[in-house]
Amino acid sequence: MKIYVVGLGPGERAQMTQRAYDVLNESEVIAGYDVYIDLIRKDFAHKKLVSTPMKKEAERCRLVIEEALLGQTVAMVCSGDAGVYGMAGLMFEVAQEYEPVEIEVVAGITAACSGAAVLGAPLIHDFAVISLSDLLTPWEKIEKRLACAADGDFVLCLYNPSSKKRHDYLQKACDIVLRYRSSQTVCGFVKNIGREGQTGQLVSLSQLRDTAVDMFTTVYIGNSQTRQINGRMVTPRGYREVR
Ligand code: SAH
Repeated sequence: MKIYVVGLGPGERAQMTQRAYDVLNESEVIAGYDVYIDLIRKDFAHKKLVSTPMKKEAERCRLVIEEALLGQTVAMVCSGDAGVYGMAGLMFEVAQEYEPVEIEVVAGITAACSGAAVLGAPLIHDFAVISLSDLLTPWEKIEKRLACAADGDFVLCLYNPSSKKRHDYLQKACDIVLRYRSSQTVCGFVKNIGREGQTGQLVSLSQLRDTAVDMFTTVYIGNSQTRQINGRMVTPRGYREVR
């Protein structure tokens, strides 16, 4: 009787940790949002796979806890890392309502890191990860975080940069950053990291403002030092200046 909350990495098997693979093998039931279950269906077809629609997160946790309390080993999967805009926190919260059950979080490569590797080395120094989704966070708070991080010259990594209802949020976010940073700031975005159709592109901050991205994209806004080196996005850490 145990629950694993597992980060699958960005998508492809090669970017899933061995530990994640092992605990999925050990689990009798694997639950998660449809898209993530589809990512692992091929490798774990012999398991009981429970896919649940989005927006029923607490219900999904309950389902997993109830299966575990029947004496099974159950894995709840998320993309990237389960503790970064994932289900790990909610699982601990919901589990309080039940009799004690062991919960283990298994780390995965989060999109910030897998996407950064595609672009070059944008995150080398202090960076701030901000989600543009206002489903669970008021937009005013997101704006404040963007402004503070931009003011602090953090490299920014943006998750959930768009959706059908939020098609202009990236534009709004760029407008806030443009108050603090040059329009020529080196930026980049990566779509479908580790999945079919992976594409990465470098643009200036003013170009990023006018770029339409989808929800399978992670966006990077460089700090004042970030450069383009042979088509790669690179934030210097300062080694070359140290004597
Ligand atoms: N737990 C996940 C994040 C979930 S939030 C993680 O650690 O990576 C969903 C957002 O993550 C997406 O809107 C996108 O911005 C980013 N993301 C997750 N997987 C991605 C992928 N394979 N390619 C590009 N962006 C991805």
